[in-house]
Amino acid sequence: MKVPLLDLKPQYAPLREEIRKILDEVCDSQHFIMGPHVEAFERKAAAYCGSAFAVGMSSGTDAILAALMGAGVGPGDAVLTTPYTFFATAGCVVRLGAIPLFADIDPVTFNLDPVQAKRVLDNPPARFKGRRVKAFLPVHLYGQSADMDPLLVLAREHGAVVIEDACQAIGAEYPSAAGVRKVGSMGLAGCFSFFPSKNLGCFGDGGLVTTSDAAFAERLKALRNHGSQVKYHHLMVGGNFRLDALQAAVLEVKLPHLDSWHVRRRANAAYYDAAFQGTVVQTPAVVYGKSGLAMPHIYNQYVVRVPDREGVRERLSAAGIGCEVYYPVPMHLQDCFRDLGYRRGDFPESERAASETLALPIYPELTDGQRAAVVEAVRVAAGGWPAANTK
Ligand SMILES: *Cc1c(COP(=O)(O)O)cnc(C)c1O
Repeated sequence: MKVPLLDLKPQYAPLREEIRKILDEVCDSQHFIMGPHVEAFERKAAAYCGSAFAVGMSSGTDAILAALMGAGVGPGDAVLTTPYTFFATAGCVVRLGAIPLFADIDPVTFNLDPVQAKRVLDNPPARFKGRRVKAFLPVHLYGQSADMDPLLVLAREHGAVVIEDACQAIGAEYPSAAGVRKVGSMGLAGCFSFFPSKNLGCFGDGGLVTTSDAAFAERLKALRNHGSQVKYHHLMVGGNFRLDALQAAVLEVKLPHLDSWHVRRRANAAYYDAAFQGTVVQTPAVVYGKSGLAMPHIYNQYVVRVPDREGVRERLSAAGIGCEVYYPVPMHLQDCFRDLGYRRGDFPESERAASETLALPIYPELTDGQRAAVVEAVRVAAGGWPAANTK
């Protein structure tokens, strides 16, 4: 049996009529830029994410870029972040003329480690001396929150704002000392992506920034519109970062289903966790699972560590089981960041993760037969263990 890493068709099928109806409405109105669907989706997304405001953006990348611009990050600044992430996180920092100050990840969660962050801030590489750390940009990788409380404290001590890259984690919760919080609601701003492969995906590119700071929300609204609030009057230099009305309409239909999709991803993860227990396959840890949270992990990706990862990946692909490496090259080793002066060995946990991790199919509509086929194929590809372990 072939199992793709992701199949979006079974999610679309039951929503097809409703989505085509709302798309028709937008087409009939010929109102494609901003308007009622963007506003309605922003209102509902803010409520879902536990923030006072949400500002639609053209992509997750543009959400990060606009949030950093809004925080005043610019040439000469440093932004503390993780080297183990999708490129956009670090790319946006560099596009603004700032430089990423990387700190290594916690090998259990793959997220920015507050202990490593403190170590790097206390003793930054010589080339960072005298640079102001203007922002922290933690990533909630794969769908699980970074350890935000110590990062928020550390950021406050350094006079830095916190911008959360929540692109993979919409709806995930964190047990903060102040109570249960959704990702994207803890820092000054949270950045979300609606790229089709995220848990909430639109029909192309889309994104969002959440914030509970009214002035910052106004700034973001201006920034996404070339820095203008009043037409042809520009307060600042922004860009065209607007969310399309067509995409907002799709997202409006999908948002009410998001939690039920999270629940099915979590059930698939629980199935894999049980099947791989006691084998060479190291399953993802849910570190806040015992804190009474409903959504300690939303599994945008289900990522295991396996010995001989490249071999396992090839054997799975040959068997028709979709799998992927997120991510094979950490940011500090990217060619385009050569000038930043980082070297192999600087962030051993990120480098080890890049060579050991493998994402398996986890999408909500996986059938029982598909899940069993994935487990059996992994068992064979990883060198085998007693089949009795496979349910
Ligand atoms: C997807 C993603 C982004 C970028 O989102 P786009 O909508 O593709 O621009 C940024 N950061 C992380 C961690 C992501 O997973």
